Amino acid sequence: MTKAIYPGSFDPVTKGHLDIIIRTSKIMSHLTVAVMENPRKVATYNIEKRVEMLKLVTEPYPNVDVDYYKGLLIDYAQQRETDIIVKGLRAISDFEFEFQMALVNQKLNPAIETLFMMTNSKYSYLSSSIVKEIAALGGDVSSLVPHEVHSMIVDKFK
Ligand code: ADP
Repeated sequence: MTKAIYPGSFDPVTKGHLDIIIRTSKIMSHLTVAVMENPRKVATYNIEKRVEMLKLVTEPYPNVDVDYYKGLLIDYAQQRETDIIVKGLRAISDFEFEFQMALVNQKLNPAIETLFMMTNSKYSYLSSSIVKEIAALGGDVSSLVPHEVHSMIVDKFK
């Protein structure tokens, strides 16, 4: 059984995240999407809302579940008895940070492997912060976020 964790802020979930979720769920027997607190970022949506949005968009995928964790990713992986962490890579700019995180996590627990999924070229420019910037200025984000959560995202900026 190949179980993996896909961690992130998901503040909010975008079509780029969903693409990684769908593609990874086809490779792994089980995938947990884990909403994590990021001390480097001030969140727009609280954890409950981010989990609710992720649950809505992942409903069609029976081997995907959604959870949250306030602590170290490596501790969470151990708790869930999962030894694969999946990260998405959009650009070289993602690589440097993710490379450092993967090596630190490897140092903390060598049994846990980080696997990188390359972005779908359709979504390589897409991030949660871009979605929020456009929504805050009244722009149309319907092509950037899953339709199930579109109104929840727009409502936040009304
Ligand atoms: P961000 O706030 O930068 O969008 P998150 O912490 O929510 O990032 O992202 C969680 C994971 O999803 C990270 O591994 C990130 O690199 C990846 N990711 C985010 N957006 C995309 C995308 N458009 N394509 C591929 N991977 C992505």
